[in-house]
Amino acid sequence: MLDFLGNLKRTHYCGALRASDAGRDATVMGWVHRRRDLGNLLFLDVRDRSGIVQVVFNKETQPEAHAKAEQARSESVVAVEGTVTRREKANPELATGEIDLMATKLHILNNAKTPPFPIEDEISASEETRLRYRYLDLRRPRPHRNLALRHKILLEMRKVMDEMGFIEVETPMLTRSTPEGARDYLVPSRVHHGKFYALPQSPQIFKQILMIGGLDRYFQIVKCFRDEDLRADRQPEFTQLDVEMSFPRQEDIFSVIENVMVRACAVAGIEVHAPFPHMLYKDAIRKYGSDKPDMRFGMELHEVTDCFPAEARQKLQIGGSVFALAAPGAASYSRKQLDEVPEKAKGLGARGVYFVKVAAEGITSTVEKLIGAENVKKLAEACGAKTGDLVVAVSAKEEIKGAEAAALVAGQLRLQLGEALGQIDKTQWKFLWLTGFPLFEWSETDKTWVSAQHPFTGIVDEDLEKLETAPWEVRSKGYDLVLNGVELGSGSIRIHRQDIQERLFKALGLTEEQLRRRFGFFLDALTYGTPPHGGIALGLDRVTMLLAGEKSIREVIAFAKTTAAVDLMAESPSEVDPSQLDDLGISVKPYVLQSECGCGGRWRVFSERMSQGAQQSPGAATCPESPQYFLPLVGISNEGRWWVEHLDAGSRDWKRVLER
Ligand code: ASP
Repeated sequence: MLDFLGNLKRTHYCGALRASDAGRDATVMGWVHRRRDLGNLLFLDVRDRSGIVQVVFNKETQPEAHAKAEQARSESVVAVEGTVTRREKANPELATGEIDLMATKLHILNNAKTPPFPIEDEISASEETRLRYRYLDLRRPRPHRNLALRHKILLEMRKVMDEMGFIEVETPMLTRSTPEGARDYLVPSRVHHGKFYALPQSPQIFKQILMIGGLDRYFQIVKCFRDEDLRADRQPEFTQLDVEMSFPRQEDIFSVIENVMVRACAVAGIEVHAPFPHMLYKDAIRKYGSDKPDMRFGMELHEVTDCFPAEARQKLQIGGSVFALAAPGAASYSRKQLDEVPEKAKGLGARGVYFVKVAAEGITSTVEKLIGAENVKKLAEACGAKTGDLVVAVSAKEEIKGAEAAALVAGQLRLQLGEALGQIDKTQWKFLWLTGFPLFEWSETDKTWVSAQHPFTGIVDEDLEKLETAPWEVRSKGYDLVLNGVELGSGSIRIHRQDIQERLFKALGLTEEQLRRRFGFFLDALTYGTPPHGGIALGLDRVTMLLAGEKSIREVIAFAKTTAAVDLMAESPSEVDPSQLDDLGISVKPYVLQSECGCGGRWRVFSERMSQGAQQSPGAATCPESPQYFLPLVGISNEGRWWVEHLDAGSRDWKRVLER
């Protein structure tokens, strides 16, 4: 029999009770964390979001409460009335370890099934299980801590922004495409048959329009949606601190964000100081082989192309440049450790990897015969290698990114070796502003220049003339904020003139018609006296992840999706009722799979539902021409409608051979 909460009132959080409360009556409420039955004494550890308290049930003095406690199970929801007493022997592991709660009454408010994993920080359950049972996962102290920190950071950011005169304005979720370089999530309109809203990839256009609207200083803590190829540090929906201001210089925006970050770090108990250092994009690439350099350690890159004479370059098939770095203390690497480096480097796109060992006995190199002792020495010197260091030089497989390819490979290697050699000081918080980005980047897939950021990014005044003639030389007024090698956000001073915005769209290859259709309203708005403006957006999931000391953003998002964009708990995305599709005037095309048949003909499988990665199979289809050939139906869900067609060799008519 379960008890009602009735009029019972909680007096204390479990984790809040201390020795100074001894002698007081207390009522706590929470979950049974653990139960130990010692016969006459029964102990329940009761847990709520603040922590755990040990509750003691004494069979002799409180037989009724004791009897009831025998019914309590792990994760039962309980309310306990009792008296706080000092423990004879304190438990130093527990914040409440100096006291017990001597129970006088137990109320069992709800039962619980046995959870699939223990509610503790140290668990071995897979992330998949944790996400599926997120409500249980959230009961653990670590997610609590992370979500509380997230709340505090966001609250502090709102305060700082308010203090600086920014006002939070909400922008629509049902809107139209914003070009941030990803695919849109579309929402079909029921009322306007055949038309779609897009969920915002960012509030970019709206915040710029707010500047045209005279709002002067805007911010918003806002969800953005991007249908991109997912990576470990991405989610299809994520949260930004979005900022825009009118009449800004670049340093005004930097100082706003520095204020925000200094205060956000302070909330997490981390002391950082503004202003943050700046670096040009091209220097970041040449010195660190990255557009988000981790400044917590050295191991800078050096271009050493001229240490490789023409003949050696030919023998080693080096097409472009060679970049090198000195790995401190790695001269003593074992054969096995040395062998791993080229393996790693090749995986990162290196063509060749060349070593120079700087040992007490002298300098030796794997390429000494080819480049000569003089060049080996020059190479070691160029990298500032000291005795005990190993110089690693790399050339890149392809020179797609010009002289930078080898630097990018070396940059990855720098991170891996730096980590392996314990060079990264994990107690440091190294912010960095990156500026001087190119406006365009070449897209191999589209064979055209595309915006390196979004197409509203301002253009360095002197480079304007090159917009049509030498787009690759045009620099943008964009900037990125990086912390410890993680990109926290990016922004720019914007294009505020309609004529320039239109020229940029044209440089991107948009026709007049496409331009009007996609951005007509915005170009119109720009013609009504748009002030110079600029802004930035910070990724708050990443900010919180770093400040919480977590390695995955999913640890700081209450209801995170998997890397396949699935919410395992809510089971979304999901199919919808056919009537909902009818309302929207939408029909789902069956998924088609084609393959060859052994008879020389072809198979075609239509399925309304494919279960990705599923091994289940509703059987196999037999070839109508030559029955010795089969098509196993793997990955097709039994739930939906599916059918199989066969095309005989030389025929043009598909035959339906199987249907369900
Ligand atoms: N809208 C940009 C983004 O989401 C940020 C900005 O330029 O302010 O990355």
